[in-house]
Amino acid sequence: MTNIIFFGPPGAGKGTQAKIISKRINLPHLSTGDILRSKIEQKDELALKVKNIIDSGKLVSDDILNSIVSEKIIKDCTDGFILDGYPRTLDQSNFLEALLLDNNIKLNFIINIEIDFDVIEKRILKRSEEENREDDNINIIKTRYLEYKNSTQKVSEFYRSNYSDIFHDLDGGLEISEINNKIVKILENRWFSVQIITSTLDLLINNHVFTLIHFFWTS
Ligand code: AMP
Repeated sequence: MTNIIFFGPPGAGKGTQAKIISKRINLPHLSTGDILRSKIEQKDELALKVKNIIDSGKLVSDDILNSIVSEKIIKDCTDGFILDGYPRTLDQSNFLEALLLDNNIKLNFIINIEIDFDVIEKRILKRSEEENREDDNINIIKTRYLEYKNSTQKVSEFYRSNYSDIFHDLDGGLEISEINNKIVKILENRWFSVQIITSTLDLLINNHVFTLIHFFWTS
């Protein structure tokens, strides 16, 4: 079971990276942004509320997010998960900590992609020009970036100090492929260490058994 959390401001490319890694290691990608956007398709009262909040760049309520994520993790993620966009507030991270503890689930990797607002702004303006997109309204992106700075950065700091051995900072200003190579290396390194520990343990246990057999045989 492998459990990964991605952190990063809007425009840092965490969704793109989470998607690539999800395909590569075949783990469910839990993007709360995607889940909320598909909820909007249902066009009921809640969908309308959620749409208005997302369109404004503000955060949807913790209760809604906590219940979405807990249901997904318990039902659909028996082999692990890649969380992208959650937790975003301290209330959400407290909820997640309790959920994982209650279900004896451990986090294995936390990937924090950092990027400055001026780099994001340049990227978005370039994309808007190239693709003639209207959804990349710079004011909304600014609100979302401020939400990240005011709420989510406290959450990533919590994980940085409480999970320092699995917390990895990456520069979101790099190319997508460069960031991806770095993430793959982080995942492989950890697998490599786990493999070494497992085979050393195997060796010790086997040697121990062999010594015992030898002892009884020769005594
Ligand atoms: P994203 O695609 O992750 O950038 O999310 C798009 C929008 O969905 C955000 O700007 C929020 O309005 C909402 N959203 C996604 N995840 C969360 C979350 N964990 N808590 C609150 N709102 C969220």
